[in-house]
Amino acid sequence: MADNKITILGAGLSALSIAYHLDGDDYVIYEKDNVVGGHCRTKEREGFFFDYGGHIFYPKQAYVKQLVTDLLAENCRESAREAWIYSYDTYTRYPFQANLFGLPTDVVKDCLAGLHDAQVKQAECQSDEPPSDFLDFIYKTFGEGIAKHFMIPFNNKHWRVPLDQITLDWMGKFLPRPSFEKTLEGSLSQSEACIGQNSIFMYPKRGGIQIVCDKFAERVNPVHFNSEVTEIDVENKTFTINGKDVVSYDTLISTLPLPVVVDCLKDVPKEVEEAVAKLRWNDLYVVSVTVDKPVLTEKHRLYVSSPDLIFHKLAFFSSYAPEMSPAGKSAVSAEVVHSKEHHVDMATVEERVVADLKKMDIIAEDDKIMFTDVINMPYAYAIYDSNRSECVAIIRDYLASKDVFCEGRYGEWAYQNMEQNIAKGKEVAERLNALIG
Ligand SMILES: Cc1cc2nc3c(=O)[nH]c(=O)nc-3n(C[C@H](O)[C@H](O)[C@H](O)COP(=O)(O)OP(=O)(O)OC[C@H]3O[C@@H](n4cnc5c(N)ncnc54)[C@H](O)[C@@H]3O)c2cc1C
Repeated sequence: MADNKITILGAGLSALSIAYHLDGDDYVIYEKDNVVGGHCRTKEREGFFFDYGGHIFYPKQAYVKQLVTDLLAENCRESAREAWIYSYDTYTRYPFQANLFGLPTDVVKDCLAGLHDAQVKQAECQSDEPPSDFLDFIYKTFGEGIAKHFMIPFNNKHWRVPLDQITLDWMGKFLPRPSFEKTLEGSLSQSEACIGQNSIFMYPKRGGIQIVCDKFAERVNPVHFNSEVTEIDVENKTFTINGKDVVSYDTLISTLPLPVVVDCLKDVPKEVEEAVAKLRWNDLYVVSVTVDKPVLTEKHRLYVSSPDLIFHKLAFFSSYAPEMSPAGKSAVSAEVVHSKEHHVDMATVEERVVADLKKMDIIAEDDKIMFTDVINMPYAYAIYDSNRSECVAIIRDYLASKDVFCEGRYGEWAYQNMEQNIAKGKEVAERLNALIG
């Protein structure tokens, strides 16, 4: 049925980019949902648009930037990111480590003294050992004060596993490391602009981040929607959709999460079974609260470190683009991590988010809440523990030996962003183009 075709599983951004960059149209795409976008999606409800987790697009590669600029055309806006931290009842600019201005004096003193000590130790080569894990990295890079007052409580909420179990290979450019002078400067006055890799970002004027995926989808073969892959028979090169329709394949490119793919296999080698059992990840609830008032804040994002508040991040989509909410209304979306190891009850999460937004005075007692909404995002964040890289290699190598190639954020089981999905999708397609000729 599918001779010589490339079969792509999933219709998230990675799959769409692969399809877009393939030569010709001899490929098919199967997606379990009835819409493209996967984790990079937007939900519309009663005129409000909520991304699946606050997405901003900040490509550095000229090719990717140009491609998305062309795809979005007049529906594209560039904005200076307004990312802030909430701690000690104070709002400071992101990143915490460069913007201590406004925090209680004792906190600023602790942070500066700790950073100074850490940097002196590094300069004296007393800590020439590379950090052994993420917790050690935090202490060695930022010192005890920044560790205690922000980095540890925030990352505890974000990862929900002990930080000394997290390795360093996910971080790359994700954590800005300002000099001592920069931190000192940022503790004496409020800086006017954000620093860091994504200080200017692109975002659709209308329709949310979904539009990036929709625009790709307009340029690839029609996707087979509502087609959940439930079984893969790697020996006979077939897979089953929705438990009944059997389809043959030649080359299978999967962008599904690795545990989902392995679950679809029969007779998995013990080594692969054991590897997949060791993978850890966090799921995410995105809880949105809509309010009958025009503006909650001009901020785009808030990082929240206090252990007493259930969410670690807030996104204000009406500030990303006014068209994300009906005129005169606004919304806030809270990200709440949950997992097998850290259970959060979906039945009560909305109520808990509203209560905590009130504690922070983001929502006032007399504000009229129109409705609340919750999106569950399974497999949001792969956890980089000491097993991850070996287990991922075992699983991917086995599957590749059976002509199943796992790609994308959840096929590589990696902390990738949209730019990487697009760029890597192009690379995968180019390899396939060369192979098929
Ligand atoms: C909370 C959050 C915030 C983020 N914020 C940003 C940001 O600000 N900026 C940025 O650049 N990136 C951000 N990212 C990263 C970005 O969302 C991802 O890199 C991207 O969505 C991954 O795309 P993908 O195609 O690799 O995977 P996915 O989007 O997961 O695509 C996989 C597809 O496979 C489908 N599927 C799953 N199982 C089956 C099955 N059995 N059969 C058929 N289909 C199936 C899914 O429905 C999905 O459509 C964020 C990610 C998260 C989770």
